[in-house]
Amino acid sequence: MIFSKKKEIVTPYSVEECGSCKAISKRKFKEGDYIFKNTDSCSSCKGQLSIVKIFGEVLKV
Ligand SMILES: [Zn+2]
Repeated sequence: MIFSKKKEIVTPYSVEECGSCKAISKRKFKEGDYIFKNTDSCSSCKGQLSIVKIFGEVLKV
């Protein structure tokens, strides 16, 4: 469970990949995100973006 660490703030991110041009973009995790979920369309080629990875980034306080 990535949110349970003590004295660290973990910000979750989602990584989206375009199914057509394979462009990868990272954005903040949104409620309801899950791996392989289809999200927006690609800003460069209008292909289908889907989430390929969700990870937490630890912020040092
Ligand atoms: Zn694309």
